Formats: sequence, structure tokens, C-alpha cells
Amino acid sequence: MSDLLPSDAFNDECGIVAVWGHAEASNLCYLGLHALQHRGQEGAGIVSSDGQALYTQRGRGLVADVFGDRAGLQRLLGNRAIGHVRYSTAGGNSEANVQPLTATWAMGQLAVAHNGNYVNARSIRDELEAEGAIFQSSSDTEVVVHLIARSRQKTFVNRVVDALARVQGAGSIVFLNEDMLLATRDPHGFRPLVIGRLPGGGWVLASETCALDLIGARFVRDVSPGEVVVIDDGGLSSFHPFPRSESNACIFEYLYFARPDTMLWGRDVYSVRLRLGDRLAIEQPADVDMVLPVPDSGVAAALGYARKLGKPFELGLVRNHYVGRSFIEPNQQIRDFGVKLKLNPVPELLRGKRVAVVDDSLVRGTTCRKIVRMLREAGAAEIHLRIAAPPTTGPCWYGIDTPTREELIASKNEVAEIGRFVGADSIGYLSIAGMHEAVHAGEGGFCDACFSGRYPVLHDDLKRRPQLPLFAESP
Ligand code: AMP
Repeated sequence: MSDLLPSDAFNDECGIVAVWGHAEASNLCYLGLHALQHRGQEGAGIVSSDGQALYTQRGRGLVADVFGDRAGLQRLLGNRAIGHVRYSTAGGNSEANVQPLTATWAMGQLAVAHNGNYVNARSIRDELEAEGAIFQSSSDTEVVVHLIARSRQKTFVNRVVDALARVQGAGSIVFLNEDMLLATRDPHGFRPLVIGRLPGGGWVLASETCALDLIGARFVRDVSPGEVVVIDDGGLSSFHPFPRSESNACIFEYLYFARPDTMLWGRDVYSVRLRLGDRLAIEQPADVDMVLPVPDSGVAAALGYARKLGKPFELGLVRNHYVGRSFIEPNQQIRDFGVKLKLNPVPELLRGKRVAVVDDSLVRGTTCRKIVRMLREAGAAEIHLRIAAPPTTGPCWYGIDTPTREELIASKNEVAEIGRFVGADSIGYLSIAGMHEAVHAGEGGFCDACFSGRYPVLHDDLKRRPQLPLFAESP
């Protein structure tokens, strides 16, 4: 469907969970999805299997909305299941795009759940459509399903490998059929995926370890970049069919996206965020009476910042926890309203005080601008904005939803101009080197393209997305 908006055809922030070998597989999946809800709030789904057939429930909304009716979960029979939470850009939020995607084909039934973006999905899709393929969704994941169905390889595993060898970019992806669970991370390892073990001996795969914690599973290890893990009645086996490539794990998972209680690629996210705040205090100190976080995303970095400066850490902005992340609302009008719904200042604490406000990142600057205004109205004497990340200058092609380059305030404005736009008395960002130091990423291995413009995987298909011009600016 070439008339689809380009932005309609991509998976964005997503969370995956898979369970094998447990009588309560779909219930465990459901709990795991709750733990991963921060990775996507626009759709959720589970597909289970009893070895004979696949059973599906999915829909738009939060996990609790989609599975609010317990009867729905009870219909998800079997001792294995995969689940997905999804966030999509505007236009891509149709029911058909909610995962896991399912298909019936020559080898039986198949379900797929994917976190990441394949950068060349569009041209493969065009090629398949020109040959008569019919797509049900606008997601790049469905391209993989078609490639599997058309592969000349004999076995299911080889067909999956054959299909994945054609796509480029980011894919932590799990497949379930009647016989097996197959999981892989793309050779760059952009997005996370971990293996866990249930007390009774079953297996779990999840985007983040916080999902393992909730269901009492023990962390075993990360799926390595380019590794294919197969779990069936014979147990777990693994192989590396793809050519090795440089590791490019997403550094933004540490800064914002992952939950602070997750252990990500060998480092705990909470400690990384404390260190980001610590580095920020060294690079961008402020002469203030107190340090405030923008809750919740800025809390750990603000704590690190306050400790390093030796200033009080205060909760001067109170968050309503029953409202979702404002940024994630699909249009600007709702987003504007969302900030007021979500945050409220404490005037008694702020009156006449010089405050440093710490947030994890600045995207459009619109949320921050409202926060600064709110704090001023609440009586703060000086407001010094500190961002525990470098300026976000480019969009992400690998699975984090960022607005178009045009909308990214740091893509067109110098830091001082951004400070004026948000109305702060001063503004300070962390440097790229400081960020890497806080992550302990001295040895490399991380993708920081949204800050540095160094995109590890590019494809001509990206020129058809609205964020351009990108290529002229990229090395
Ligand atoms: P703004 O002030 O409008 O630039 O919004 C910045 C806020 O958006 C920060 O508090 C971040 O925590 C949050 N944020 C950053 N990146 C993302 C993302 N990819 N998805 C959702 N929220 C984000």
C-alpha cells in the first residue's frame, strides 16, 4: 500500500516477553507485559500455544485495558506464549498493527513480536507487493513474515534466518509456532533482549530484566547481538548465523527508555542515571538552593546531581501517576493538556528559591517550557535547567520514537537559544563524552546517533521518511 504515510510503516518503542514451558504461560506473559508497559502504551497482545494451535488476544490501549477481562486470558491456552506492548507514531496506531502479528502459511501458524525498526523494510515491501503480496498491516514486521513464507529453505529455523538476513537495522524479535519459540537480536544489538529461567524450569525472554523480576524468573544472560536462540521440547539451543558486526546497543535506553530497576547489558540503569547526574554536576554546576527532578524520568539523574553539588534534593514538582507520559500522546493538543494533568508544583517549597531542574532529555522543549513557567508562577526566584543528556539533534531510525528532525529543538537551535525558548535563567546539557563516561561505555559498542549524528546503519528507504534531510548531515 504505497499510499501509506511513510511514518505509518514502522514499529517504534516496544516491549517483548515470551514464556516457554509453564502451565500459566499466558498469565506470566500478561504480568511481564505490565512490567514493560513503559515501553509502549498504545497496544498490547499475547499469542499462546498448546502445541496444536495458536490463540490470540490483542487490542489497542494499555495491558490492563486489553486483558481487563480475565476470560480473555483464560482463552489463551497452552504452556507457551509471546506478548508485546507497542507504541507507534501517529497514523500507525491501527488495530492491524498491534502485535504479536499472526499468520497461517504453508508450515502452519506463526506469531511474531518485534522491537525495533528495519531501515530497508519499505523497499522489500515494494518488491513483494509488485509480485502480488498482500499486506494486512503497515508494520515492517509483516515484511519478515512474508520473507519467511517465501524462503526456499526447508526448515522453519532456516527460513527465519534467511528472512532476517535480508532486513537491516534494529530487531529484537521473537517467533512462536506450534513447535518452538525462536528469538534473536540483530547483529548490531540495538535493542535489548534477555533470557531468564522460571523456578519450575521454564524459559522466559524479555526486553528488560524488570519483567523477569515480577514473575520470579532468574536472569540467565543477554541474547547476544546476532544470536539466534531456539527453545523447544528439547531445551534451549543457540547459534550465530549472521556475519558479525560492530555492537551498537542503544545508549538512550540507559538515559530514558529502560526502567531504572532494570539490569541492562551488564549495568544497572539506576546507577547509570545517578552517574549521569554526577557528571552533569561536574560539567554544568549551578549556584542554587535546591535541586528538583522532573518526575519520574529525571529523578535518578537529579539525585546524582544534587549529591555531587551537596545541595538538597526536593520534590518540588508532584506527579499524578494515573496519567501516562505526556510525550507519548499522539497529537500536540493533547500533549499540551497532558503536562498540566501530570505535574503540579509545590509553591511553599519554591517561593523565593533558586532551583536547578534536572530532566533526562530535551526533545521538543515544549514540556520543559511549561514546567519552567509553572515553577516561576509558583514563586521560584531562579530556574536553572540541567539536562542529563547531550542535545538530541537527530531522529532515531532504530526503534525509539523521536519526532521529526524539524521538531527536535536542538537540531536547529544553539543551546543558548533553547534556554531562551524554555524561559530558564540558564541551561546546561551533558557532553557526549560525559554521557559515555557515565555509562562506562569507554570501550564503545553503543549507538549514540540521536546525539552525535553517527548512524551505524543507513538505507535509501530512510529518504522516504519525513525527517529529511538526513544523509547530507551524516558521516
Ligand atoms: P520536551 O520538554 O517537550 O522536549 O519533552 C521532554 C520530555 O520527553 C523529557 O521529560 C523526556 O523524559 C521525555 N522523552 C524523551 N524522549 C522520549 C521518547 N522517545 N518518548 C517519550 N518521551 C520521551
